[in-house]
Amino acid sequence: MSLQFNTDWPTAEEWERGLMEWLHQQAGPSWLTWPGRDPSRHRVVVTLLHGNEPSGLKALWQLMADPPSCAVTSHFCIANLKSAQLEGGFVHRYRPGHPDLNRCFGRAGQGEEYELAAAIEARIQALQPEAVVDLHNTSGSGPSFAVTIADTPAHRALAERFTERLLRTRVRLGALMELTTPQCPIITIECGGAMDPASDEVARAGLQRFLSEAPLLDEEQGDWPLDLLFDPVRVQLVPGGQIGYAYTPLAERDLVLPPDIERLNFGWLEADTTLGWLGERGLEALRLSDGIGRPEVDALFYQEGNELRLRRPSKLFMITTDPGIALSDCLFYMVAAEPSVKNYASD
Ligand SMILES: [Zn+2]
Repeated sequence: MSLQFNTDWPTAEEWERGLMEWLHQQAGPSWLTWPGRDPSRHRVVVTLLHGNEPSGLKALWQLMADPPSCAVTSHFCIANLKSAQLEGGFVHRYRPGHPDLNRCFGRAGQGEEYELAAAIEARIQALQPEAVVDLHNTSGSGPSFAVTIADTPAHRALAERFTERLLRTRVRLGALMELTTPQCPIITIECGGAMDPASDEVARAGLQRFLSEAPLLDEEQGDWPLDLLFDPVRVQLVPGGQIGYAYTPLAERDLVLPPDIERLNFGWLEADTTLGWLGERGLEALRLSDGIGRPEVDALFYQEGNELRLRRPSKLFMITTDPGIALSDCLFYMVAAEPSVKNYASD
C-alpha cells in the first residue's frame, strides 16, 4: 500500500512552537507509539478522524509534556490531518468534495479516504490490540458520551474510563467502532463540543486512565453507574429538505430550530415540549432510522399548529446547529421514554 504514516513524535522544539504549527507541517496521517510496561500487548487511540474535532489530539499534545507510564505499548493514530489543516485549522469535518473518513470503514470505495480507512484497519488487525478508543467531539455543545454497537462488560469498562454515558446503536454508517470484535473491543468517545474547554479535559483524563491502567477491561471502575441509552433514533430531514435556525418560523423551511437548541443535549424533555417549527410538508419533512427499521414519525412527534412537539418524554443528543452537518449527517439523535417506540409502533 502506498499510504505512509508519519511515525516521528514532535521534537522538543516543535512541541514548544505549539500544536498549530506542527499540524500545518504534516504531509499526511501520523501513527505514533509510546512504549509500555508490557511491550507484548497493545492499545490503540485513534483521533481526528474528523478534522474539526481536536480534543483527542490536544489531550495527546498535553500528555507529551509528561508522558504517562503506559501499561502496554500504546499507539496513536492521528488520522485526518488533511482536513484539519484547511482554513487555519480544525474547521472542516472532512475535505469538501471528499467522503467523510469515518463513513469509510469496512466499506468498499475509491479515493484517499477509503485507502486511509483500510490502512488504519489493517494496522489495528496486525497489532491485535486489547482495546481501541476513537476520540471525537460533537458538532454542538454538550456533555461527553461513549458510542458502541455492542454492549459488553469490556465496552462498558472502556466507556467508564472517559464518561458516564453509553449509547448503544444499531445504525451502521461505516464508522471505525463498527469494526469491534470480541477479541478487540472498539468504542467511540464523544468528548463533548469541540469548542467546550471541558472536552479537552475529558479526553486528557480519560487517556491518562486508558493508557496507564492495568487491567483495563476486567472490572467496572467508574465512580458513577453508566447511563445506558439503547437504540437511539437518528432524526434527519428528507433529502432536499430545508433547515433553518431562528427563534421564529422562517418561510420556505421544512424545519426551523432555535439557535440555542444545543442546550437540550442529554436533558430529559417532557412530552409535549415544542422543539421548533415545521413548514408546509409538516411531519413528512422528517425521516427516522434506528438501524433496525424506520420508526414511525408519529410515534415520537406530533404537529400542533406549525409547532414540532414531542409525543412522549425524550432525551435528545448530538444536536447540531450547523446546517451543513444537519443536512449531510443528521439533526439529532433521540431516545423516548417507555412505552418504547417499537411497542408503540406495533400496537
Ligand atoms: Zn466525529
